[in-house]
Amino acid sequence: MERRVEQLSLGLRRSGLRLTHQRLEIVRVLAADETHPDAETVYEAVRMRVPTISMDTVYRTLATLSDRGLITRVQFLPGPARYDVNQTTHHHFVCTCCGLVRDIDDPALDAIRPTADVRRMGRTDAVSVQFRGVCTACRGGKTRRT
Ligand SMILES: [Zn+2]
Ligand SMILES: [Zn+2]
Repeated sequence: MERRVEQLSLGLRRSGLRLTHQRLEIVRVLAADETHPDAETVYEAVRMRVPTISMDTVYRTLATLSDRGLITRVQFLPGPARYDVNQTTHHHFVCTCCGLVRDIDDPALDAIRPTADVRRMGRTDAVSVQFRGVCTACRGGKTRRT
């Protein structure tokens, strides 16, 4: 987590952005959040600590970080883009009911190799598996965000 904060901060400075208190708080929120938050969620979390933060600052910081490949902009579901801080090879479970996105680390999934069809299409550099379905909370009818 501290390492992530350092990497993201360094990335911002290299992009010529001053590492202001506000931007550092955005980075801290991102580094600690593995739920793949959207910009609004990041904004709400940062606002608890920095009430003067603007949505624009959040958007621009997220854009800079994703342009530099330090976070990944993901769009698994309709609606706003979400941001993934986990830059190691991993897979996802996506709940189409509440929008939950969770990371899955599993060597068995990492080991999936391109099939002959895939190889005909080109060189594969990464494999990311996405499981879509309904999470246990939604199945239990407990949490429903939408
Ligand atoms: Zn769900
Ligand atoms: Zn992820």
